Amino acid sequence: MTTETFEFQVEARQLLQLMIHSVYSNKDVFLRELVSNASDALDKLRLEKLRDDALDADVSDLHIEIDVDRQARTLTVRDNGIGMSYEEVGQLIGTIAKSGTATLLKELREAQDAAGAEGLIGQFGVGFYSGFMVADEVTLVTRRAGEGQGTRWSSRGEATYTLERVDDAPQGTSVTLHLKPADPENQLHDYTSEWKIREIVKRYSDFITWPIRMVPETGDGEDAPEPQTLNSMKALWARSREEVSDDEYHELYKHISHDWREPLETIRLQAEGTFEYQALLFIPSHAPHDLFTRDFKRGVQLYVKRVFIMDDCEALLPPYLRFVKGVVDAQDLSLNVSREILQQDRHIRMMQRRLTKKVLSTVKEIMTKDAERYATLWREFGTVLKEGLVTDSDNRDALLAVASFATTHGEEPTTLAQYVERMKDGQEDIYYLTGESRQSIENSPHMEAFRAKGIEVLLLTDAVDEVWVDAVGEYEGKKLRSVAKGEIDLDAEGAEKAGEEREKQTEEYSGLLGWMREQLDEEIKEVRLSTRLTVSPACVVSDAHDLTPALENMYRAMGQ
Ligand code: ADP
Ligand code: MG
Repeated sequence: MTTETFEFQVEARQLLQLMIHSVYSNKDVFLRELVSNASDALDKLRLEKLRDDALDADVSDLHIEIDVDRQARTLTVRDNGIGMSYEEVGQLIGTIAKSGTATLLKELREAQDAAGAEGLIGQFGVGFYSGFMVADEVTLVTRRAGEGQGTRWSSRGEATYTLERVDDAPQGTSVTLHLKPADPENQLHDYTSEWKIREIVKRYSDFITWPIRMVPETGDGEDAPEPQTLNSMKALWARSREEVSDDEYHELYKHISHDWREPLETIRLQAEGTFEYQALLFIPSHAPHDLFTRDFKRGVQLYVKRVFIMDDCEALLPPYLRFVKGVVDAQDLSLNVSREILQQDRHIRMMQRRLTKKVLSTVKEIMTKDAERYATLWREFGTVLKEGLVTDSDNRDALLAVASFATTHGEEPTTLAQYVERMKDGQEDIYYLTGESRQSIENSPHMEAFRAKGIEVLLLTDAVDEVWVDAVGEYEGKKLRSVAKGEIDLDAEGAEKAGEEREKQTEEYSGLLGWMREQLDEEIKEVRLSTRLTVSPACVVSDAHDLTPALENMYRAMGQ
């Protein structure tokens, strides 16, 4: 059969180069990535067969197999899962479709040290390509379940790969790594050692729900040995907290999130009663690059009675918790549930409510117990969580309790409770100003009087801030007021006197005010004297119900 040669997509080639020159020091994880892909492939096949009984595929003994050939220095990971078609191999293995790749690569090139690069790679998860950390050639043979012909893919990790159709490929995928020459100095990296393989599988892949088998090395004169299963296959979410180590939870997180870093928090929930389910949720330690893009894949994995049903099940968590990863295993759902059904299911809605509350109470707990971890959490996910202030009125109070904001009070963010505690005698409202950056807000003339009087102002710089302050309106009976809107009287006691004074001054300056009004007729509604400025001669203010300047700019930029 003919062999065709193709070029890797540019991004793919760059990532491969990084793998080959291996900035990632823990090379063992390549095996975790291959096993993880094999496990996904088995999940997909089981599900496809479940949905389409006519699919011509053998699902009687789904498993993963690891084979080592010491003489040839090869290591093979084989699965009898869904496999890939000829076109799919080119698409899935030859290109990187994930969004954010370009940004990642740019940052990688700019990362000065190996540790920085490692962190970035961790955010991305390089999956299949990690094989090139330990191999100088990788061959993949695959046949899509239900199809007659298979495909062989091969590459030395340089600019090109080859594709070839093969007739005798078994169902599923086998990936063969031609290992780099042994390093006599470093026995630790001998991936032809049975002991080493066992150790890696145990450490990274123990919870995989499919058997991972290996044939032990034969001693002299024995019968051909039987394959052994290396992993315990126990579903971590079904086991009690005491039985499972933090490391085991973290490995599950890495498997489902494709993140290489430890999560910030692990959340367990076991619901009993009429509708039973178990959940294991994770708050990552870093926001992914594409969190604010339209095609961000949100949601958790859904299992029904230990059977994997779907990735990215959106119905179980609201959009503002889209950064949360994890597994939910329900006892009483049909294996045939579809996304459409889930959206309408009453039980699913109940689960969503309960899971949301659990995540928010966990955030609260982190906040009370561990200021540093809370600070990380809010820095990474605060912007997303604030969307919930607008969309989830049921949990508004819980969200307001864990939210924190930049403030004129100091460098550290403040909660609303802390702000209220510091409010001056006679101060009725909570003041804020929105803008593009802390600096631009602090330089705003609107701030002058507040600064002069020592009144604290929250400095809000996210686009969503404009929206939630309106939606929420008040906190503990105190109005949230923009210092850029309407008339603000900072001096309630002297108000009457000031009123008289102002009237007098207004008369005095009526000529000037009138003239200014005429000049600016197209731009403004009114010109008035103000007590809010101490240094600047004038500033633009909107009516209490008008858009703030930042929103106005935003709408104008959109051409409205
Ligand atoms: P990820 O697993 O994060 O999607 P990978 O680089 O590990 O990224 O794999 C890329 C894609 O290649 C997978 O999403 C999958 O579609 C396909 N793939 C990889 N390994 C296998 C396999 N053993 N069986 C079937 N498909 C696979
Ligand atoms: Mg993968």
